[in-house]
Amino acid sequence: MRLDKLLANMGFGSRKEVKGLLKKKKVLVNNTLTMDGSMHIEPTKDIVEVDDKIVEYKEYIYIMMNKPPGYISATEDVREKTVIDLLPPDVRRYHPFPVGRLDKDTEGLLLLTNDGKLAHQLLSPKKDVYKTYYARVQGNVTSEDITVFEQGVTLDDGYVTKPAKLNIIVSDTISEIEVKITEGKFHQVKRMFAAVGKKVVYLKRLRMGELKLDSALKPGAYRELEEEELSFCL
Ligand code: URA
Repeated sequence: MRLDKLLANMGFGSRKEVKGLLKKKKVLVNNTLTMDGSMHIEPTKDIVEVDDKIVEYKEYIYIMMNKPPGYISATEDVREKTVIDLLPPDVRRYHPFPVGRLDKDTEGLLLLTNDGKLAHQLLSPKKDVYKTYYARVQGNVTSEDITVFEQGVTLDDGYVTKPAKLNIIVSDTISEIEVKITEGKFHQVKRMFAAVGKKVVYLKRLRMGELKLDSALKPGAYRELEEEELSFCL
């Protein structure tokens, strides 16, 4: 990779700004001053320093976010706030995007990455990765509902969902439920409950496969995945 591209990718400004940086004699490659932006760099081998600080190069970024309500799961939108707006510039420079979608009012575990391959793997219907949600639902959720969800629910458009698991935490005027689904159809959990005559009033994603929402993350907070967590996604 060219030195100027690496520096631009790592947030040192546009190619033009990087050129200025090189001209000011601020860049060292393997302890040698260089002003040549076209110099070839092996990002994992060569040591690049700017202003005496080593530039840690990484291609991919993997972020776990506790999505707050009121934000849409998109990279940009003219009217709405997006989950990308919650990230600082030094993370945004990797151009992360959300892996799958949570509704604007849904909270909880959202993965953001610039690794298209990983996103594809996690979302592939063939993989049958369970997504676990905590839902508050109007009305008593019953053992019949458990059976219907197990057998597949017919949604408003005629689609029959794959088997889903319900775990009733509280059955009351507002029930508390853990729901596990493997698919990611539009408004799927809400539409599944609507099909059995119940309205979801609160929804939070807790897990995607083995990957668990870090309970220390406040709504809107994020952190990079740890290595073990990343291995759960591969
Ligand atoms: N199901 C829904 O209805 N909404 C979400 O945001 C996720 C799953």
